[in-house]
Amino acid sequence: MIKCTECDAEIKIPDDAMENEIVTCPDCGASYELIKSSNGFTIRPAQSVGEDWGE
Ligand SMILES: [Zn+2]
Repeated sequence: MIKCTECDAEIKIPDDAMENEIVTCPDCGASYELIKSSNGFTIRPAQSVGEDWGE
C-alpha cells in the first residue's frame, strides 16, 4: 500500500495500473505519478507546473 506523502492517507493502486499513471489522494487531493520499481510501484508528486490541462 502506498501512502500519500502529504497527509499519510492510503492511496489505492489499481491492479492494472501502468507506469506514469496519475493517481489522486482521496483525502487531500494531491496528484501523484506512478513510478514502477523492482518491488511494485512508488509515487512521486505529479508535475503540474507548466502543463495546461484546459482549466
Ligand atoms: Zn493526501
